[in-house]
Amino acid sequence: MAGKYIEKHPDENGYFGEYGGAFLPPELVGHFKKISDLYEEISGSESFLAELRDIREHYQGRPTPVYFARNLSAKHAGANIYLKREDLNHTGAHKLNHCMGEALLAKHLGKKKLIAETGAGQHGVALATAAAYFNLECEIHMGEVDIEKEKPNVVRMEILGCKVVPVSHGLKTLKEAVDSAFEAYLKDPENSIYCIGSVVGPHPFPKMVRNFQSVVGAEAKEQFAAMTDGKLPDHVVACVGGGSNAMGIFSAFLDDKEVKLHAVEPLGTGTKLGEHAASLTFGKEGVLHGFKSTMLQTDDGEPAPVYSCASGLDYPSVGPEHAHLASKGRTIVGTASDKETIQAFFELSREEGIIPALESAHAVAYAAKIAPDHPGENILINLSGRGDKDIDFVVEKYGLPD
Ligand SMILES: *Cc1c(COP(=O)(O)O)cnc(C)c1O
Repeated sequence: MAGKYIEKHPDENGYFGEYGGAFLPPELVGHFKKISDLYEEISGSESFLAELRDIREHYQGRPTPVYFARNLSAKHAGANIYLKREDLNHTGAHKLNHCMGEALLAKHLGKKKLIAETGAGQHGVALATAAAYFNLECEIHMGEVDIEKEKPNVVRMEILGCKVVPVSHGLKTLKEAVDSAFEAYLKDPENSIYCIGSVVGPHPFPKMVRNFQSVVGAEAKEQFAAMTDGKLPDHVVACVGGGSNAMGIFSAFLDDKEVKLHAVEPLGTGTKLGEHAASLTFGKEGVLHGFKSTMLQTDDGEPAPVYSCASGLDYPSVGPEHAHLASKGRTIVGTASDKETIQAFFELSREEGIIPALESAHAVAYAAKIAPDHPGENILINLSGRGDKDIDFVVEKYGLPD
């Protein structure tokens, strides 16, 4: 039955097995405890759930459909490929699922300002949207490299009334943006809240974000059963940056041992440190940004430089629950390279008329790789977002295929 694993993880200190926890500066311990206590108190209350349900149905456009990708399946003769269409969520990705939840919580906590980092800009846009909805201030920290690459999302955030703070140190991407946003939050934890963009960060964020995202899996399980005479999918595939869209869809299937769960990491341009962001594949245990997980690190234990063509995936660590599930063998960790991803990006566009986000295209690429080995089986992909934000970058860097 759904819920058994979920109810037991994490433990009351935020641990999934040996991963997770809350490694915080002393002045923040109280603030996080307050967030955690209030979350536990109100997340089960009927009024909170009713408000969230109402937002999802009337504002976000949920449920998003599950779609059988007939042409793509035929092309990779073997398995049947289904897509959970999170790209059709308002703002174009799954991130609004947790942003609306976090902002609703912020409102209940009496906070005035939402602070966060963003990589591809999707989390920033989703949070700026949630801030507008709830009439809260919003400040988003973003690496200068990503600002250049994801211009349309920067403009969207500004139109939505959000302050975008450029981050110019280090590699100027996601990791530095997290550092910068955390510093800003430290300056005023009383009136602001740091709205983490994935199932990462100190407890209770990995748990809260997973639970807010679990709507994806709950819907998909029911929709898939309705389309297939009550079946479960044989495989569920999702890309993993921090891991929120993957945990969202995996959460409904964790107790169904026969369902294989595939976590797909970005292999970028190669297997050497700095060429990829495959933290589960190549990482070692470590603490970064307030939680213990598997992370890519240099010989002296510093977070390693990471790279992926998908800005939303280039993070040197991964949600602690993913580290736990992979270490227990409950998830299968796979990869897709930039090259495979770009191919899948065009293939889904041309076969199905769906332009995927580059992040999501990693999951599509991986599914295409495993499909021939599983004839007659059903693969459900979480299509985490749409690719409008990536079109200029893809065409300029890789050109159009023949
Ligand atoms: C941010 C993003 C991701 C990666 O984040 P997760 O927390 O790993 O889900 C994946 N897909 C899209 C479309 C994104 O915007």
